Amino acid sequence: MLDLIDIGANLTHDSFDADRDQVLVRAAAAGVSRIIVTGTSVTSSIQAAALCAARPGALFATAGVHPHHAADFDSHSTHALRAQLGSPAFVAVGECGLDFFRDYSPRAAQRRAFDAQLELAAEVRKPVFLHQRDAHDEFVVALKPARTQLVGGVAHCFTGGPRELDAYLELDLYIGVTGWVCDERRGSELRAAVPLIPLERLLLETDAPYLLPRDLTPKPRSRRNEPQFLPHVLERVARLMNQPIDLVAQATTANAERLFDLARNRAT
Ligand SMILES: [Zn+2]
Repeated sequence: MLDLIDIGANLTHDSFDADRDQVLVRAAAAGVSRIIVTGTSVTSSIQAAALCAARPGALFATAGVHPHHAADFDSHSTHALRAQLGSPAFVAVGECGLDFFRDYSPRAAQRRAFDAQLELAAEVRKPVFLHQRDAHDEFVVALKPARTQLVGGVAHCFTGGPRELDAYLELDLYIGVTGWVCDERRGSELRAAVPLIPLERLLLETDAPYLLPRDLTPKPRSRRNEPQFLPHVLERVARLMNQPIDLVAQATTANAERLFDLARNRAT
């Protein structure tokens, strides 16, 4: 039986409102025993904590403001996040970072929100859950000077190639791989990078309800991704790394426990 940790699932998303409990039951049955619920705004981080409170040891959360929402980020956001991060349910700050693909918030605002959350993560001694899209160079510029103050971090939903991977490993980050790796059209760069990820730096995530693996059969009619599909990502990654599935599973679980300090809160 697998004992996997989905390090990124947006379980507060309204597409789960009707059947969230069944989603968690299906995840557990598939061997996904622990899930880190992604916070993307002050409000969704509070909602994530409420989910965790009902399932201690099985659900954890991040508290942060996604770059899409950076335009709304101000000193009140920092205060609210700091207050939340005092709760042990929160195992990371984020997701935070830069997204120049969508540019939903002005880039200067994204940079300010990112810098503020890096500072907060250093202050509360929790790792950062990092989002980056089409902003690699500026992202590294922002992160590098802050890195020595941080206890750790993960480049969540890594989709880059070997060059970006190198830069992140140099910053001593963990690398979060999603079902993007199963996408024959878009995933070729990532598939070139996956075999180069050191096993002790690899994490697995679904990013549910997004990024349903394209090669999943049969596909759910809803096209909604769920944590129960994490073993599918695991299998693809293990094949690319030319490693046994069990070995990759154990490594990623140990990595998540280490980065997010979950050992104290083991699922029973
Ligand atoms: Zn993200």
